[in-house]
Amino acid sequence: MKNTAFRIALMPGDGIGVEVIDACVAVLDTLQKKSSGWALSMDRLDAGAQLYKATGTAMSEETFQRAANADAILLGAMGWPEIRYPDGTEIAPQLDLRFRLGLYAGVRPIRALPGMPLALADPRAKDIDFVILRESTEGMFASRGRGEVIDDREARDTQVITRDVSERLFDFAFRLAESRRGRGGKAIVTCVDKANVFRSFAFFRKIFDERARAFPSIAARHHYVDACALDLVRKPWEFDVMVTENLFGDILSDLAAGLIGGMGFAPSADVGDKNAVFQPSHGTAPDIAGKGIANPTATLLSAVLMLRWLGERHAVPACGEAADRLEQAVDAALGSGSVRPYDAGGRDGTGALARAVIERL
Ligand code: ATP
Repeated sequence: MKNTAFRIALMPGDGIGVEVIDACVAVLDTLQKKSSGWALSMDRLDAGAQLYKATGTAMSEETFQRAANADAILLGAMGWPEIRYPDGTEIAPQLDLRFRLGLYAGVRPIRALPGMPLALADPRAKDIDFVILRESTEGMFASRGRGEVIDDREARDTQVITRDVSERLFDFAFRLAESRRGRGGKAIVTCVDKANVFRSFAFFRKIFDERARAFPSIAARHHYVDACALDLVRKPWEFDVMVTENLFGDILSDLAAGLIGGMGFAPSADVGDKNAVFQPSHGTAPDIAGKGIANPTATLLSAVLMLRWLGERHAVPACGEAADRLEQAVDAALGSGSVRPYDAGGRDGTGALARAVIERL
């Protein structure tokens, strides 16, 4: 069988980003050797806070173009507390990728992993399996770099919700619920907003209701964000796909990661109509960087999302099957009890976890 070759822009970034990406590349190498029908060629690109420190540029235009022209972007993490732009803001070229490439659908899957610690003692917590779909190009973040402080008296940031992006976001949410049905999904999409107070959210909800009519086999529900935060702790196993504005999604997805053991277990994908970036939900974790103890699980599960997306987009079923195999290998390695990451109270570092997954492959 002829292999479909995908070019992956690999952006390790800073801090533990580099460590988890190295582990992920080793695992993907093995997965490729054991598969046929698809292949990855890695184009390693330098970007982030350390590059900014060394050169004054966080991501060159050439690097951006190479990433934009790749089939997918696999990113570690970027930023460093002490390295900042002159205005005091953090170096975050990964946010520029989201805006410039129009990656409106921030996919944040949250799933209880075998053998890993759960924040809730309720036995139903082992059934937690939902996705927060965070709009990632507008909402409150539309004000990034544009907010104003007037005479040191008051400050303003403005939220933007557009019909165009919201329609595509909601269609993405309903299609995601449809595709999850085969993998144990509950065929429910919940719109999370604050439509009882803000016109922008009432508009957001109105568009959600309009789009829901095109997907009659999926249940469409609403939740106010405050009540939703409560239910994420009271009964998170009832959610399937949740779709929300950028800032709400930012906050709720960290809360949700806390339910399943923390940031080291939470993958993500930022998807647009043409491009997609896959990266762990966590940052560069300066407190543990360089020690070899970062948990690579979130990055490996992000690679699962990448292979699934490539397989669906290019109609290469073998790539989707490889995604399933990688996900099963991660579950088997964690569930075996033979390895336990540091952030789950264990003593196994980044390399040991990657080796355990490679053995299962
Ligand atoms: P950012 O703002 O860039 O998203 P952050 O400052 O919110 O980052 P992280 O860098 O994600 O924070 O780290 C938050 C905490 O989680 C830190 O204590 C860090 O050590 C821990 N952490 C994050 N990722 C991992 C990981 N892969 N393995 C183990 N611990 C992690």
